[in-house]
Amino acid sequence: MDKSTIAKLDAAPLEICGRVPAPWGLENIVLKADELEAFCKDPEGFAALKYRVTKEEYLKWVETGGTPRCGAKTSKGKRCRNLVSGGIQMSLERWLREEGAYCAVHGGLSSAEARLNR
Ligand SMILES: [Zn+2]
Repeated sequence: MDKSTIAKLDAAPLEICGRVPAPWGLENIVLKADELEAFCKDPEGFAALKYRVTKEEYLKWVETGGTPRCGAKTSKGKRCRNLVSGGIQMSLERWLREEGAYCAVHGGLSSAEARLNR
């Protein structure tokens, strides 16, 4: 897109939204005219940048449905990956905080306790 097109879009009474995957389906990101190209090139990378996380973190958040997984190691040395109590479809910020916490088996809160903490 050339500069005059961007300037025209910028001046017009438009709201341009990009749609990116989220645990609950799609999320809208309001785009400025000069962000369109970057968004079209890599919508997920752009979303990650907007949310101030790495693209990997963003994709993981979508992939897990916003549900944090237990980070404890099982007796076989593998990551447990049970659900961490406290909810599904968490906001990206909250999911990042809780991803890798412990499930009820590994000393995390039971779902009843987690509910009380909300
Ligand atoms: Zn666990």
